[in-house]
Amino acid sequence: MRGLLARGLLAATLMVGALNHAVRAEDQPAELTEDEVKEAVQFVYGNALFVLLHETGHMFISELQLPVLGREEDAVDALSSVLLLESHDDTLDTAITDSADGWFLSDQEREKAGGELAFWDTHALDKQRAYQMVCMMVGQDPEGFKQFADSLDFPESRREECKYEYDKTKESWSNLLAPHAQPEGGKNNFSIIYEEAGPELKPYADMLKEANLLETIAGTFANLYQLKDGIQFVATSCGQPNAFWMPAERKLVYCYELASYHDQLISKWLVENRNKDDGNADDQTEEGQQ
Ligand SMILES: [Zn+2]
Repeated sequence: MRGLLARGLLAATLMVGALNHAVRAEDQPAELTEDEVKEAVQFVYGNALFVLLHETGHMFISELQLPVLGREEDAVDALSSVLLLESHDDTLDTAITDSADGWFLSDQEREKAGGELAFWDTHALDKQRAYQMVCMMVGQDPEGFKQFADSLDFPESRREECKYEYDKTKESWSNLLAPHAQPEGGKNNFSIIYEEAGPELKPYADMLKEANLLETIAGTFANLYQLKDGIQFVATSCGQPNAFWMPAERKLVYCYELASYHDQLISKWLVENRNKDDGNADDQTEEGQQ
């Protein structure tokens, strides 16, 4: 599993970095420097990976009729984290760090806008989702993610618990999926569709398509677990920054608006944090939590 995921996602991440500089630079000549554009693209892409792996978790639960104990949204966030972390790849470690930062930043935006916390939501609160990802990170590699966890004042006692939680999560998903392993030579046939986007979202549509985002996810899971043919992976405009697994249509959807949303989050942060000593998103989120 780890080889496929790492190779596919690494290749795509490197490719998007190179390709999208041109796309975004034209759009925002005065806004971001070359390095900031690279960072923003990496952030958008890393968050897209996390979200797509999350939706893939919903797909497995639905298609393979897997049992879920506890909240499904938490379970598939955990799967997404495990898939990224088990790749043991620096690029994917950055992707999961960026995804945790994505939730921290979105929580800050909500707070600034005076938005209420959605305690009733099907998902945990953004900040809780972020901390649970941090838990998976330090649970898997306490040393590798020490700096990130320290920057968040993530308690030592919690880090200890996270080792057990990580192992249990990985083992649980692995055991649930094992009976559905693809037989030797078997292959899932996913349809991949990038729909046209309007002028505002076109740069994101182009970016995701050029980076083969959907192909990478589809390729990663083509040979792993047996799924019935006919599943579609679709990137499209949805009118909202989101992503979905649609069980009746057997369709996994990534909305271009979500890429735009993550781009705005990180671009704003990058501009606001220029010229700060040792400025990075981790330090910034720390301030927000005190
Ligand atoms: Zn979900």
